[in-house]
Amino acid sequence: MTIKEDKIFRCAKIYDAQYIIVPRGVSYGVKEEIMERTLSIVKPDGVAKNLIGEVIKRFEDNGLKVIGLKMISMSKKEAEGFYAVHRGKSFFESLTIFMSSGPSVVMVLEGERAISKTRELMGATDPDQAKKGTLRRQFATNIERNIVHGSDGPETAAFEIGYFFNALEIFKY
Ligand code: UDP
Ligand code: MG
Repeated sequence: MTIKEDKIFRCAKIYDAQYIIVPRGVSYGVKEEIMERTLSIVKPDGVAKNLIGEVIKRFEDNGLKVIGLKMISMSKKEAEGFYAVHRGKSFFESLTIFMSSGPSVVMVLEGERAISKTRELMGATDPDQAKKGTLRRQFATNIERNIVHGSDGPETAAFEIGYFFNALEIFKY
C-alpha cells in the first residue's frame, strides 16, 4: 500500500486503481493497513501428490481468500524467469527443471498479513527445519521438492502476481 500525505489529506493507494482519501490525522484503520496480496503455487510435486485441495483448504481455513487461480505447466524459460533472483545459485538448474516438470497450480491470495501468513502455513524451505503442522513439514520430500511456494515480501508479491495473472484474472468477492 502506498501512502501519500500533504497538509490536508492523506491518500492511500491500496491496489492498482483503488484509492482511499481521508483528512490528515485520521487513520485508515488497522484492516486496510495490513490487507495484502500474495502469490502461492502448488508446485509440480504437490499436484502429483494430490495436494491441491489440501493446500487451498489450509489457506482458506486461515482467513486467506483465493482471488485468482489456474493450473499451468511452466516452460523451463518461464521457471527461470520466475526464479530469476536465484540465477547463479547451485540449485537453480535443478529447481527450474523441477518447476517445469509438470503442471502446477498458481493462485493469488488476499487477506490480512497474507504474505507472512502464507509463509507461516508453508513452513521453512527445508522440511527438516519446518515447524510441526506446516505444509512443508507434513508433505515435502526434500528442500527442493517442498510442494508449495509463497512470495517473500510486498515487492516480490507484486512481481510474482503480475508474472502469472492479468487484471481480468483477479476477482473481488
Ligand atoms: N531450493 C533448493 N535448494 C536450496 C534452496 C532452495 O532446491 O538450497 C528451492 C526450493 O524449492 C525453494 C526454492 O528453491 O522453495 C526457492 O528458494 P527460496 O530460498 O526462495 O525458498 P522459499 O522462499 O521457497 O522458502
Ligand atoms: Mg523464496
